[in-house]
Amino acid sequence: MTSYNLVILPGDGIGPEVMAEVRKVMAWLSSNKDVSFNVHEDKIGGAAYDEYGVPFADSTLEKCRASHAVIMGSVGGPQWDNVPYDKRPEAGLLRARKELGLFANLRPALVFDALVDASTLKPEIVRGLDILIVRELTGGVYFGEPRGIEDLGHGERRGVNTQVYTTSEIKRVGRVAFELARKRNGRVTSCEKANVMESGKLWREDITALHKAEYGDVTLEHMYADNCAMQLLRNPRQFDVIVTDNLFGDILSDEAAMLTGSLGMLPSASLGSDDTPGLYEPVHGSAPDIAGQNKANPLATILSFSMALRYSLSRGDLADMIEKAVQNVLNAKIRTADIMADGCILASTSAMGDSLIKELDSGLAKAA
Ligand code: NAD
Repeated sequence: MTSYNLVILPGDGIGPEVMAEVRKVMAWLSSNKDVSFNVHEDKIGGAAYDEYGVPFADSTLEKCRASHAVIMGSVGGPQWDNVPYDKRPEAGLLRARKELGLFANLRPALVFDALVDASTLKPEIVRGLDILIVRELTGGVYFGEPRGIEDLGHGERRGVNTQVYTTSEIKRVGRVAFELARKRNGRVTSCEKANVMESGKLWREDITALHKAEYGDVTLEHMYADNCAMQLLRNPRQFDVIVTDNLFGDILSDEAAMLTGSLGMLPSASLGSDDTPGLYEPVHGSAPDIAGQNKANPLATILSFSMALRYSLSRGDLADMIEKAVQNVLNAKIRTADIMADGCILASTSAMGDSLIKELDSGLAKAA
């Protein structure tokens, strides 16, 4: 029996509702498998601001640092619109990422067969899609100096941001991508704009050198980021792992996510060095429009927990089992409102969680 320390941060809006369903899955695993979870639940975002006066408290950070993984819901909501910028819910999330040194953001884009019609692309283009975008998260143009808006006089102003990367920043995120590709289909596509940007030229040279030195068994391809944006729509299944910088990754990961057609299904992970916990959260926000109504789709958060099992707890076997159970529930035409289709059965948040547990139970029965 292995015990893992987890921090759970439900956050705001639908966060607590979807996290309650994750707790059901954790309880099921503890009762039926060789794992147990020592869970510390805490606040982040607006909920933390209301309780602690800050959106991510030092005491919470300490608990996170001492954990194996952090599972988060989502933050934000109109009730905190007038809170000072540095205390807004989103600032809590940014602080968590920064303090935990999370430099690689993993965004899978997976199309479940049962949801192939939810995509705006033709089924034959997206069926079976399974790609993973690795986005550099702590460098590049969002953080580079100098930055700012300068008044040039005579009504003229100048806005400046700086795209900057060092070899070590490029290689550490490259290493994450190559390692992941080894566990998947062995292909990495590295994206930049080496044709027009020096930082892109350095990116390409450093990724090439890393590949040559350590990852000769993985296939590496370079692609300009604008071409990648087109290829994601033209033939997304050509990709396995895409690694790219903070800015291009921001855009390409949203584009890839939308190939799957449903926000309520999309998990993510942010990883740092080996001795720091990963942070796992759904891609969607706090959905204030449906919060408290038992309508939200909990699967993105449950799949985020599954990523934690795979990447922080090295329990790919349990992650596979949860993902298979999700697939079976969808095949049984059980749907929350966001992924509802003709002929399917409408489920609430809690009913979706219960269906998943029933599916896990039936798998257990079959295996016994
Ligand atoms: P959102 O993702 O919260 O919602 C967009 C739309 O998708 C809404 O109609 C919502 O009902 C629906 N939706 C989202 N998740 C769903 C789910 N699990 N099941 C069913 N439907 C779902 O984005 P938004 O409306 O732009 O932002 C709302 C708040 O969330 C804002 O305060 C924003 O800052 C915050 N936000 C937080 C995060 C995060 O915590 N990482 C990410 C994005 C937005």
